[in-house]
Amino acid sequence: MTNSTGTKATSGTRRAAIYCRISQDRGGAGLGVARQEEDCRALCDRVGWDVVAVHTDNDVSAYSGAPRPAWQELLAAVSRGEVDAIAVWHVDRMTRSPRELEDVIDLADRQGVELATVSGEIDLATPTGRMVARMLGAAARHEAEHKAERQTRQRRQAAEAGRVAGGGKRPFGYEDDRVTIREGEAEVLREGVRRVLANESLASICRDWQARGVVSPAGKPWKPSGLRRLLASARISGRREHTPRGSWEGTRPLLGEIVADAVWPGIVSHEDSDRVRRVLSDPARRRRVEGTTRRSYLLSGVLRCGKPKEDGKACGWGMSGRPRSGVARYVCPNTPGTDACAGTATNAERTDQHVRDMVLAALESPAFMRRLRDQDDAGQELYDEIREDEEDLEALALDVGERRISRKEWMIARQPIEDRLNQNRAKLAKVSRIAVLRDFVGSFEDMQARWKKMNNSQRRAIVTACVRSIEVRPANPRKRWDEDRFIFDWIA
Ligand SMILES: [Zn+2]
Repeated sequence: MTNSTGTKATSGTRRAAIYCRISQDRGGAGLGVARQEEDCRALCDRVGWDVVAVHTDNDVSAYSGAPRPAWQELLAAVSRGEVDAIAVWHVDRMTRSPRELEDVIDLADRQGVELATVSGEIDLATPTGRMVARMLGAAARHEAEHKAERQTRQRRQAAEAGRVAGGGKRPFGYEDDRVTIREGEAEVLREGVRRVLANESLASICRDWQARGVVSPAGKPWKPSGLRRLLASARISGRREHTPRGSWEGTRPLLGEIVADAVWPGIVSHEDSDRVRRVLSDPARRRRVEGTTRRSYLLSGVLRCGKPKEDGKACGWGMSGRPRSGVARYVCPNTPGTDACAGTATNAERTDQHVRDMVLAALESPAFMRRLRDQDDAGQELYDEIREDEEDLEALALDVGERRISRKEWMIARQPIEDRLNQNRAKLAKVSRIAVLRDFVGSFEDMQARWKKMNNSQRRAIVTACVRSIEVRPANPRKRWDEDRFIFDWIA
């Protein structure tokens, strides 16, 4: 709510500047600059503001970083104290990005500037008003991006109506016509998706592919960065994805928006593609994987120190690999500034063997596998729920954009959906690890043979598909090797 009697007891009348922006990001009637100005003048009249200036920018792109001289002028006038209120048609006229909006909010704080919009009143001095402004900005941006999306898609669809666009090397997994699947590569590609879903590192997959002579369409060995783009591309699931030019700076973002089903067939399912896209774009995974590629110890972080502390509870710290006198061991680390007790150690080689045998024995058990598979089915359900919730959020954003529901209703409606989404995504990240076992499980001997050929990153994926963690109790000084020290927390 605007309030012209506010806290400033200076003159009583606010000096308002009207800001208009011409752009193509909102179609239809009413957004010609004349209409914007007229509406804003009426608004200022209504709230008793004195219009002292009108600033107009011609800015045809919704989110390009093109400078807006008139906007800069207006900000300068505000800083000089010549203007103490701004009237705009809609928040999306004023700011084109969340960052620009934050600048305005700062300014409102510093200079006590008031803001009024024709399409609704916003009080930047209150947290609620700011939240509304931020949401309106986000909704407008969403709408603008979709608009650009539709335009580009139309152009591309027109261009591609006859045939698939050529140019550049053929995509991996497809023949030169970019439509026919090249089965040998397609199989390798599906395998890559499964391995990523099983938490294997890209570097590890690249090393393995190189050893097997798998190369890119350009005839070069795969590198993690290229593999990441390949597996995250919606193309491999037969969907067209698009990132509007000018919506990013520097490197193209990993994920574009999926705009349509493509004319070429997919090599992997939409579901697997969505999962792998989520995994590969998760910044937490990047850090994790970078750690993984350096780790030569199979069970670092899987093993937890089980030595009781003074309160009787286990230390619980993740054990890490540390050699002593040339012998590899896992230890509760002696890291200053942490709660790690540094009181547990175990021989790495024997521990790895024991854990391998326990895991293979579990996987040989039909009952264990049945329980794991049940969890995978749960994954399918989770996946469906996530899809539905995402679609609901999209629909809601559209509703508020087209004013079918109020902003307040929007805020109330989206909260439970977002909460559920976050929970389900976290759960899904866990159950997806089970995918790795599809190619692995067999008789104990088969699994042993496969295990032998794997690297530690692959083995780790198998272990973590079966156990959450393994607690290591303190050693019994009378025993040289004691398997009872290891307490497995099985996933199923
Ligand atoms: Zn400890």
